[in-house]
Amino acid sequence: MSNVPQFPAGSVLGYPRIGPRRELKKAIEAFWAGKTSADEVEATAADLRRRTRTRLAELGLPTDVPAIPSAFSFYDHVLDATAVVGAVPARFADLVTDGGLDLAGYSTVARGRGDDLPLEMTKWFDTNYHYLVPEIGPETVFSYSSDRPVREFAEALAEGVVTRPVIVGPVTYLALAKATEGSPEDFAPIDRLQDILPVYVQLLSELAAAGATWVQLEEPALVSDSIEVPAERLLAAVVEAYGVLTGAESRPAIFVAAPYGDLGAALPVLAATDVEAIGIDLVRGDLPTEAVPGLETKTLVAGVIDGHNIWRADLDAKLAILERLENLGAAAVTVGTSTSLFHVPHTTEDEPNLDATLKSWLAFADQKVREVVVLAEGLTEGREAIHEQLLEATDAVNSRKTAPGVVRPEVRDRVAALTEDAFNRGDFETRKKAQAERLDLPPLPTTTIGSFPQTPEIRKARAAFVKGELTAGQYEDEMKAEIARVVELQEQIGLDVLVHGEPERNDMVQYFAENLDGFSVTENGWVQSYGSRCTRPSILWGDVSRPAPITVAWAQYAQSLTSKHMKGMLTGPVTILAWSFVRDDQPLGDTANQVGLALRDEINDLEAAGIAIIQVDEPALRELLPLRAEDHAAYLDWSVRSFRLSTAGVREDTQIHTHLCYSEFGQIMGAIDGLDADVTSIEAARSKMEILGDIAAAGYPRAVGPGVYDIHSPRVPSEAEVTELLADAVKAIAVDQLWVNPDCGLKTRRYEEVTPSLERILAATRTVRATL
Ligand code: GLN
Ligand code: ZN
Repeated sequence: MSNVPQFPAGSVLGYPRIGPRRELKKAIEAFWAGKTSADEVEATAADLRRRTRTRLAELGLPTDVPAIPSAFSFYDHVLDATAVVGAVPARFADLVTDGGLDLAGYSTVARGRGDDLPLEMTKWFDTNYHYLVPEIGPETVFSYSSDRPVREFAEALAEGVVTRPVIVGPVTYLALAKATEGSPEDFAPIDRLQDILPVYVQLLSELAAAGATWVQLEEPALVSDSIEVPAERLLAAVVEAYGVLTGAESRPAIFVAAPYGDLGAALPVLAATDVEAIGIDLVRGDLPTEAVPGLETKTLVAGVIDGHNIWRADLDAKLAILERLENLGAAAVTVGTSTSLFHVPHTTEDEPNLDATLKSWLAFADQKVREVVVLAEGLTEGREAIHEQLLEATDAVNSRKTAPGVVRPEVRDRVAALTEDAFNRGDFETRKKAQAERLDLPPLPTTTIGSFPQTPEIRKARAAFVKGELTAGQYEDEMKAEIARVVELQEQIGLDVLVHGEPERNDMVQYFAENLDGFSVTENGWVQSYGSRCTRPSILWGDVSRPAPITVAWAQYAQSLTSKHMKGMLTGPVTILAWSFVRDDQPLGDTANQVGLALRDEINDLEAAGIAIIQVDEPALRELLPLRAEDHAAYLDWSVRSFRLSTAGVREDTQIHTHLCYSEFGQIMGAIDGLDADVTSIEAARSKMEILGDIAAAGYPRAVGPGVYDIHSPRVPSEAEVTELLADAVKAIAVDQLWVNPDCGLKTRRYEEVTPSLERILAATRTVRATL
C-alpha cells in the first residue's frame, strides 16, 4: 500500500457487546423461546450498535477515522468467523442457505438440535469468555458465506461513522480449530491455511469496496504456547497468511492485534510482513526495548490500558511507556487497549451504590475509553495538555494505597505464620480406606455438581428480598422449601450423594464475595461469559477474611432432610480470584492464600457440622494458566497451594471433591494431581470421555467423575448414549476410580431438561453396574 490511511491516535480493540442492560441477551433469548422474530432481534441489535457508536463518539473517539471498532456478535466472534468462511460442520449443512446462516441457523450451530451436537465450547485464552471451536477437516470447503461484517460497516458509515471491522485472523482461526472427526491422524486444521486465505482476501476486498480504510484481524494465538500448533509452524503461518493478505489487490489497511500477552518471537516476524499496524498488549506483554526491523513502516498500537481488569490506570506511568515506545522506530505510536473491552462492564456510572472511594479507583469500559482518549491527547499534544487528568489519576492510585481495609495486619500475620503442615492432607491410600468405610457408597456413585435449576420463583424471591419486599426470615423459608424440594427430587431419582442445590446463591463467586471481607459487588457490572450468558464479577480490593460461617447452616439443614450423604459445596480460591476483578497491587498468590484461609475456616466448620463430603469447585484453574509455558510453574505452585491450604484442615475420612469445568485435564495433570482432591469431576460429554485414557495412562490414583450429560445445551441425552459413555469409561479406567455426574452445575437448565436427564443417567448407571 503506497498511501496508508490515517490510523487514529487513540482507539479500543473492542467494546462490550451485550448492552448496558443486557439488551442483546434479552432479545436473543426471547428469539430462542419463540417470543420474538428474527427481524425484531436484528432491530434491537442494530439499535445497540448505534448506541455504542454514539456513546464512543461522545467519549471522545473520532468518527472520521476508524477509531471505533465494528465488533458486534450475536453469540460469539469465532462462530462469526466460521459463518464468514462457510465452515459450518456437515451435520448442520442443511441450515446454510444462499445468504449463509440466518439467525436461527446460526443459533442452532451454537446450541445444537436433537442428536446434532453443537460446536464444542472452550475458554478463550486466559479469560472467562468461551468461544465455539471450529471443526475443520481436509474436506471442509471454505467459501465467503456471510457479508455481516460488510453490512455492519456500511450501516455505521451510512450514519457518518467510519468504523474498523474486527474479525478473528486466519492464523488464530485455524490454530483454535479442531480437526473434524475422522480426519487423518497427521492432519491439523492449520494445514488448510492456503485454502482459507482466498476467503479472507475476498472479505477484505468487499470491505474495501464498502469504504473500509482499516480492518482489524485478531491474532491472539501468537501470544500463547497453549495452542496445539507448534511455535515454528505458527510463525510460518503468519508469514504465509500476511504475505497473501497484504498482497491482495484491493483491501483496507491491515491492523493485526495480538491481545492477552507477549508476542515474543512473533513480533519481529509480524513486523517483517507488510501489514500496516500491529497491536501489542503492554499490560501482560513486555515492553520491547530495541528497535524492531520492519516497524519503521508500521503503526504500533500500544495496548497500555488494561482491557481485562477494572482498575483505573496510572496515566503518568502509561504515558511514560508510550514516550519510550516512540524510540522503537515505528512510523507512528498510537494508544490502545491491551484487549477488547468486552471483558469489563460498561460503566462505573451505572453503580450508584458502590462506595465512592472504591469507585474512584475503578475504570470500566467507558472510563477506559476516556483514558485512551486522554493518553492520545497527551501523546500528540504533550504532557501539559493533560496535566489535570494525570494528577487526578495519581491521586486515585495513592488513595488506594492507604485506604482502610486494603492492608490488614491481622490477615497478613495469619498467612505469614502458616507452616508446611497446613498444606498437606497425608497419604491418599489411607484416606481412601477411611472414606470408603465411613461413606459406604455403591460402585459408580452418582451425584451432581451442585446447583439445581434457578427457577423464576427463586429469582423472584431473591429480587424481592433485595428490594426489601421479603424479610430475611421469609427469604430463608423460601430457600429452605426449595432445598427440601431438590432433596426430595434427588431421592426420587435415586442419586447416591445429594446436594442442596445452591438456590441461595446468585452466583458461585459473588455469593462468597458478599460474605467475605475485602470484596465489593456491582449491580450492573455484567460481562459476557458465553453466548447470551453473563456473569457479574465481584471486586476484590482489600485483604480477605471470613467474618462468620457462610454455608454451614444451609448444609446442615439439607443434611437433616436425608439419610444419604449431603455434599457441602464451596467455590475454591483460584476460581474466586479468576472470576472476580482482583487487586493488582500484590502477587496473586498472596491474595489466593488469604482466600484459601477464609475457606479453610468454612470447610472445617462444615466438617464439624457432620458433613462428610465437601466439594471445592475450581472450574477456573485451567483458565488462569498463563499463556506462556515459562510462567506455568510459578502459577501452578501458588494456585495449587491455595487450594491445598483451604482443604488440608479436614480429617482423613472426610472426602474432598473438586470440580473442573473443562476437559483439558491432560494439560494440567500435574496440577490436578497436586490439588490432591479425593474426587475430581470434569467435563467430558462433548469430547466423549477421551480424557479418561490419558488419566489412566498417567497412573492418576484418585477418583474422577467424567461428565456424562452436557449441560451447556438444552438437549436431553438418550439413555443409550449415556450408557455408551459409561461403558467406555469403565473400559478406560478402574471402576473404583469412577463417579457418575453431569458435566457441570444445572443452574442454567430447566427442570424439563434436568429431571429426565438425571433419570436416564441413573438408568444407564444401573445397566452398567449390572455388567461389573
Ligand atoms: N457447584 C457449582 C454448580 O453446580 C459449580 C459450577 C461451575 O463449575 N461453574 O453450579
Ligand atoms: Zn463446571
